[in-house]
Amino acid sequence: MGEIIQLVALVVLVASLAYVLLLIFGNFRIQNATVVSAEAESQFFRTQIAEIMDRRQIIKAQDETSWQGFRKFKVERKFPEGGGICSFYLHPHDDRPLPFFEPGQYLTFKLDIPNQKKQTIRCYSLSDQPLSDYYRVSIKKIPPPKDNPDAPPGLGSSFFHDNINEGDIIDVKAPAGQFFLDVTKPHPVVLIGGGIGLTPVLSMLKEVVTREWRTEVWFFYGVSNGGEHIMKEHLKELAEKFDNVKVRIVYSRPKDEDVEGVDYDIKGRVGVEMFKEVL
Ligand SMILES: Cc1cc2nc3c(=O)[nH]c(=O)nc-3n(C[C@H](O)[C@H](O)[C@H](O)COP(=O)(O)OP(=O)(O)OC[C@H]3O[C@@H](n4cnc5c(N)ncnc54)[C@H](O)[C@@H]3O)c2cc1C
Repeated sequence: MGEIIQLVALVVLVASLAYVLLLIFGNFRIQNATVVSAEAESQFFRTQIAEIMDRRQIIKAQDETSWQGFRKFKVERKFPEGGGICSFYLHPHDDRPLPFFEPGQYLTFKLDIPNQKKQTIRCYSLSDQPLSDYYRVSIKKIPPPKDNPDAPPGLGSSFFHDNINEGDIIDVKAPAGQFFLDVTKPHPVVLIGGGIGLTPVLSMLKEVVTREWRTEVWFFYGVSNGGEHIMKEHLKELAEKFDNVKVRIVYSRPKDEDVEGVDYDIKGRVGVEMFKEVL
């Protein structure tokens, strides 16, 4: 009888001990999890603060060097890109530094075109990444509409192509626009440009690689054929140099001399069906 009581007491003791150990272990796990989650939270807030500071620095840099109204710029270089598109490299006439711009933003130009009753205002996207010493815009000369070939060609774009030359001085407003890529935080991105609509996304792509984003970056560029395909070598170089950058050149109506796999990647139109297949 005494032995049975001793055995029961031993079992109760062992069970109590196990229960206490479980309680201690459970408490330890909760504490550990709390520490881990506190660390994750603090890391999250540190990242948020870094992003806010980064954005504040961008805004501060923009404010310090930006300008009101129009500023004089000298056309330092005029470069035909092909496909009826010309790039203009603009240097500030006062040699003062240029504000950082958000990739995707545009410049506004005031043109004094002869025989026009008033000055002509036109906007062109910044096609290069933000740099402190020059801006670049790439302008397509707009022909008359197909159904009205006798109409005059595009006023502003023709003036740029035919009358604006290296050494000329033009009036430019500070970069503006809400369509831009937030570059303060690396994230996966799909950039899509068609025809001359390449310009803002090209600026985004160049800034992303300059900032050494290691995230997945897709770049779709749709044109009719090789005749419209500009910045060809440059895009090829970027795709070869950065393995996270996937460039897809899409021709809707390739010509006989356009070779799939060499000049372009996909025949068709950039759109949802293509994204479903490729992404
Ligand atoms: C934010 C923004 C960014 C832009 N970025 C770029 C860029 O990076 N690159 C770029 O090339 N463009 C860009 N554009 C477009 C650019 O601003 C101009 O709209 C474009 O250059 C056409 O202007 P234009 O003065 O040459 O043509 P317009 O003179 O405005 O003519 C437009 C069309 O109308 C036709 N037309 C003219 N007169 C008549 C008439 N009497 N009867 C019938 N048809 C007529 C012309 O032949 C032409 O086809 C951008 C626009 C915006 C708003």
